[in-house]
Amino acid sequence: MKKMKIAGIILVFCSFLFIGFGTYFAGFYALGGAIFVSGIILISAGVIIEELQSENNRTNDDDSEKRSDFSTKEGREQDILDNWDGWRCPNCGKVHYQYESTCSCGTRKPIG
Ligand SMILES: [Zn+2]
Repeated sequence: MKKMKIAGIILVFCSFLFIGFGTYFAGFYALGGAIFVSGIILISAGVIIEELQSENNRTNDDDSEKRSDFSTKEGREQDILDNWDGWRCPNCGKVHYQYESTCSCGTRKPIG
C-alpha cells in the first residue's frame, strides 16, 4: 500500500506546517499534533499491510513456480536460460545473461 504511506508522509508534512502556524495561533499546535499522529498511524498501517501482502506473494510464488511465471524469480531465471542464452553460475547457482562474463561471486562464465 504505497498510497497509504504517501498519504501518511503528506499528513506528517502538513502537521509540521500546522505546528509552524502554532507560533501565531495556539490552537494549531493541538491540530498539528493530531495530524502528525494520524500521519504516523497511516504510514505504519501502510507498512504493515505491505508486509502482509508480500507475505501472501511469497506463498503464491510456490504455486506459480511450475508455470514459469515472470513475476517469480525462478520464472525469470528460466526465461533467461531458455530465451536469452543465459548461464548459471556453477559456484553459487545465480543466473546471468549471456553478455555477463563474471558472476557477482567472482566465478567466470564457463566456456561452452
Ligand atoms: Zn556465482
